[in-house]
Amino acid sequence: MRLQVLGTAAGGGVPQWNCGCPGCRGARANPSWRRLHASLAIEAGSGQVFLVNATPDIGEQIETCAWLRPAGRSSALAGVILTDAELDHTLGLARLREADTLRVVATDTVRQAVNEILAMLEPYVTIEWLTFADIGAEAVPVSGKRPRYASARPPGAWVSALRWAGLLYAPAMGVWPDVTAGDAEVLFVDGTFYTDAEPLSFGQRTATQMGHLPIEATRGRLARLGTRCLYTHLNNTNPLVDPGSPLHEGLGVEVARDGMVIDL
Ligand SMILES: [Zn+2]
Ligand SMILES: [Zn+2]
Repeated sequence: MRLQVLGTAAGGGVPQWNCGCPGCRGARANPSWRRLHASLAIEAGSGQVFLVNATPDIGEQIETCAWLRPAGRSSALAGVILTDAELDHTLGLARLREADTLRVVATDTVRQAVNEILAMLEPYVTIEWLTFADIGAEAVPVSGKRPRYASARPPGAWVSALRWAGLLYAPAMGVWPDVTAGDAEVLFVDGTFYTDAEPLSFGQRTATQMGHLPIEATRGRLARLGTRCLYTHLNNTNPLVDPGSPLHEGLGVEVARDGMVIDL
């Protein structure tokens, strides 16, 4: 299995079009600070490539991935795995409407929600829904937080970590996944906010209330695991988007970068 990180930002990206915070200003001045929405390409063997989450950047992200270069009118894209139903992880499905059939892996809860909001795609593309078990993977529950558009829907498997072979991918994590460190070779973990209070600079809720364990609460435990851990899904307010931030020193956990490739 090989992985290519296609993006490492939370909703809005870095920079976000309507934001002038230090992280967004830095990214406008220094292209090396820029991050696309969090996504991962997984080459699972025999040329089959899965994308984890379908972000608004998905078209550009596919172009950065040599494994997904089409031959004629056929793509190596074997499917899209959804870890949740948030708009920044699902809107990209609309950009893939040129496909005849699209295979999408999701929990029942996420499938029902996405089917409803993307009903407009029906005349364009046939979505073939698969379960995590269908591809030999597992959805590990990490939060019951619903997207705002689905706030009236019942509780369910709203947010999962993807566990697949040696990979655990958890771009949103409200609670620790119920797995032991020895199960994974590499862990991608929710790095949306550095502190719990950080999102109060632009909203009413703390990181925890938004379904994201902050880095200040996870870094110690991750550093002690002895497994390779990388933070991803950074919000543009996260001070770690500045590569020169002193917070990088002694962090004890890697920060994922767009474009990095990892062999498992
Ligand atoms: Zn997100
Ligand atoms: Zn910003």
